Amino acid sequence: MTTRTTKKKPAPKKKAAGRKAAGPERQLAEYRRKRDFTRTAEPAGGGVRAARKLAFVIQKHAASHLHFDLRLELDGVMKSWAVPKGPSLDPAVKRLAMQVEDHPIEYNSFEGTIPKGEYGGGTVMLWDRGTYTFAGDDPRPEDALRRGYEKGDFKILLRGKRLRGSWVLVRTRRGDERRPQWLLIKHRDEFAQAESDIVAEELTSVATRRTMEQIATGKSRVWHSKGSG
Ligand code: MN
Repeated sequence: MTTRTTKKKPAPKKKAAGRKAAGPERQLAEYRRKRDFTRTAEPAGGGVRAARKLAFVIQKHAASHLHFDLRLELDGVMKSWAVPKGPSLDPAVKRLAMQVEDHPIEYNSFEGTIPKGEYGGGTVMLWDRGTYTFAGDDPRPEDALRRGYEKGDFKILLRGKRLRGSWVLVRTRRGDERRPQWLLIKHRDEFAQAESDIVAEELTSVATRRTMEQIATGKSRVWHSKGSG
């Protein structure tokens, strides 16, 4: 609220022409800069147009520290947060969510291993996935989502396999612009559960039913350089 400005943005036209091409390209620059796509099987991005339903995914990521990556589609990219303790269904629990760089939409199907020594090296599990929308009544839900995101009061309605119902991401610190801090909180609704620990209960991939160990030791999706078979 302190940073709100009454100045109107001058360019409502950008949506029509520039958004699809320029928007995600610019937003994915940091994501690409950190990765060597000749060494990691993660997607470079840019090949998939935004779906009409907005995608939501959570990837469990055993990197240097275990965390859960929450990703929510907005304007052609996946807005992304690293949630060290993962989501909680208990409305009394606030989970720290550190915003990280936007990811490409293709990342939503990534499960496998990122080579040691590469950015984010470790095992990635698809822990939940589905779609989401604005949690509330608005004739233009995507505009309401965008406004909420920009305001740092991002009300979302998740339709995943494991996470459902109404949640909010509240920005608590803008940080150095690159790592703003948010809190992920479950709203009280029929999907809230005070006594559960869903992160401890759900230990397998929502896509392949594999455990982290099976993903780490099973068929590798690590892409070795051309010719190595
Ligand atoms: Mn991660």
